[in-house]
Amino acid sequence: MQSVTELFMDLVQIDSVSGEEEEMIQEIVRFSKQNCDLEANVDSHGNVTIQTDGTGEALFLCAHLDTVEPGRGIIPELKDGIIRSTGNTILGADDKGAVAAILVALQHITTNSKIKWRPLDIVFTVSEEEECKGAKGYDTSALRAKTGIIFDGTGPIETIMSASPYYARFDIEIQGKSAHAGYPEKATAALPTFLSLATEIKKLRSNDLLINIGKISGGNARNTVMGKIIMHGEVRSFDLATFQNGLSTLQALLDTPYACEIISEIVIENPGYSHTEDEIDSMTKIIDSALNTTTTHKKSFGVSDANIFNQSPNLNVYNLGDGSKHAHTTREETSVYALERMQELILKLADSSTKISQEER
Ligand SMILES: [Zn+2]
Repeated sequence: MQSVTELFMDLVQIDSVSGEEEEMIQEIVRFSKQNCDLEANVDSHGNVTIQTDGTGEALFLCAHLDTVEPGRGIIPELKDGIIRSTGNTILGADDKGAVAAILVALQHITTNSKIKWRPLDIVFTVSEEEECKGAKGYDTSALRAKTGIIFDGTGPIETIMSASPYYARFDIEIQGKSAHAGYPEKATAALPTFLSLATEIKKLRSNDLLINIGKISGGNARNTVMGKIIMHGEVRSFDLATFQNGLSTLQALLDTPYACEIISEIVIENPGYSHTEDEIDSMTKIIDSALNTTTTHKKSFGVSDANIFNQSPNLNVYNLGDGSKHAHTTREETSVYALERMQELILKLADSSTKISQEER
């Protein structure tokens, strides 16, 4: 049986940038059949589901198969317990560390009948890095689990992402008319509209509402009155009511008449979630005793498949740290320790003698 580190080193060498996960999907199906004697199910989006029978409450485990760019031709290097790419690509520990840990744990579970394992609902999603497209298209109706774990957050394994924000992006185009700087009367300048609109948008920002204009572009030449300005921004909040209020106030601002015409689009990319204090306490105790550690929790501005799966009324999914560092950069790294800790936690949680929810007795 391969170690989790060996499997991880193999998996990152299979290219699977978002939208091109086919080879990874086939590898999961093959691994499941050959090493675990389990049929994996692939849905029309490419999401892979593997389910096992067992005793007690079912557990949901999830990781995503895709990576960001530059993610082609990855060559991993293991040195002193740390795994990095050779430097021109990302490593892909986000999220293949979790993929490897789940698969090796699954092989252990299916070949070791001394322990009474709980039923597992394992889902490997595609295109997580592109607005969680795979998870958004996933049909959860066949899932039996009420509690789930995803390893896709920042920090050590024993870190619970207690909340993740609702997120929307917006694009605003201020349409005026350009003219030579010598004849400003022939222009409808975009700049005054931009300045007053940007000032009003900035006022919407509060401690509970992050609203940001991150990119602007406009103008053609030094000697021209600017006729068009485009801005791109985002809105985030951990609180649904604050988020919705922020979006409707923003929409009202955009609907206000200005000297220039305003063309805008606001797109909600993903819902947010917040675990209750009871839920955090309960999961903290479970991980503390499983790994003999001290679990911490933090709000995360990052988004994961947990944002999508937590919308299912019966599913409570915790996103934990994956133990890697510098994700989405060519400096990305993980450790043998992190991979083994993930595998260890999965095996502990899969053991039906470990309580995984408040309801389970
Ligand atoms: Zn990820």
